[in-house]
This record gives sequence, C-alpha cells and structure tokens, in this order.
Amino acid sequence: MSGSKKGYRSGKFVVPGDRLGVIEEFSPGSGTYVRDGTIYSKMIGRTLVDLLNKKVSVYPLTSGASVPKVGSIVTGQVYNVQSKIAIIRIWRIGKKLLSGFYSGILHISDAAKGYVETMFDVCKTGDIVRAKVISNKNRVYHLTMAEGNLGVIYAFCSECGHLLEQDRKGRLKCPRCKKVEKRKIASGYGRE
Ligand SMILES: [Zn+2]
Repeated sequence: MSGSKKGYRSGKFVVPGDRLGVIEEFSPGSGTYVRDGTIYSKMIGRTLVDLLNKKVSVYPLTSGASVPKVGSIVTGQVYNVQSKIAIIRIWRIGKKLLSGFYSGILHISDAAKGYVETMFDVCKTGDIVRAKVISNKNRVYHLTMAEGNLGVIYAFCSECGHLLEQDRKGRLKCPRCKKVEKRKIASGYGRE
C-alpha cells in the first residue's frame, strides 16, 4: 500500500493513547477518544478502519485463545502474492478479532470457481479478503475463496493506493485515477 493509506490499516495492535488519526479524516468510533482533533485508542485492542464511512474504531482483544478451524470463515490481509499462491495474514475469525496473526495459504486452484490463469488476477498485496479454512495440516492454514461470499472485500489501487470502488458493471475502478483492476471479488465488496 502506498500514499495516503499508510498507517490506516485494520487489524493493527494498539494500546491506550496510540494515535489512530485526525478528525478531519475520520470520525471516532467505539474504543476511541478525541483530544485536540486527534483520535486515540482507549483500550488494548485492534483497529478497524472503515475507509468507506471514514470511521476508525478499536475492538478489545478477546480473552481466550481462538484459532482457525476447518470451516472457519476468516478475514485477513494479503501479505504476499506469487503467480500460484497468496499468503494471507489472518486477523479475524468470524466476528472475533485475534490477538495474534495466523498465516494462511491460498493456492490458485482454490482461488475461484473457474479457471484462473494467475494469482495476480485474484488479489494483490494489501487487499483485505474473506476466505474459508479448508485444512490445517501441520499448522498451515489452507484457504479457499471459491464461493460467492468469499474473495476480496477491500482492494486498493495499485497505481495510487486509493480504495477501489465497484461500478455498475461489477468492475473495480479507482475513483481517483480511473484505473480498472481485476480481482476475485466477494459478494458485499466494500460493505463489511
Ligand atoms: Zn488509483
């Protein structure tokens, strides 16, 4: 991610007093307070940055360990993409935010229902995706996005870093530089 998105990411671990943003850019959500126009975290938790509604919140860390299981719907950020696989940093299971990260692997054969030529048509580094755990052999979480509700839920322009918006034809387009990009889009893109 580049440009204005830097520092405003969801899933970031924060402690009370950590700076989350300024009120010119975001409205303060739950778990935050404002002092002199700056938004701070009120608690130990993880950030949830809603870029569409320009709102930043902090969710408390849940007690009790939570680990992904086969069948779990997980949310995470694309950490690395190669032509056949993508590495996902899982920071949420269902609605539960995690206190640590798990790494998941998405193989191209599980990226979509149909044939996919390259993983670069599926997701890009920095995207937020929803996926399902299909196996966890040897503590490696293998993921699938080959269902309608699974896939990229937030994607960012590879040219300027702006959040991509879905147009009426279903394409992802950058409202700033007009670039059109390809992804495996989840139903409900941008509305989580
Ligand atoms: Zn752009």
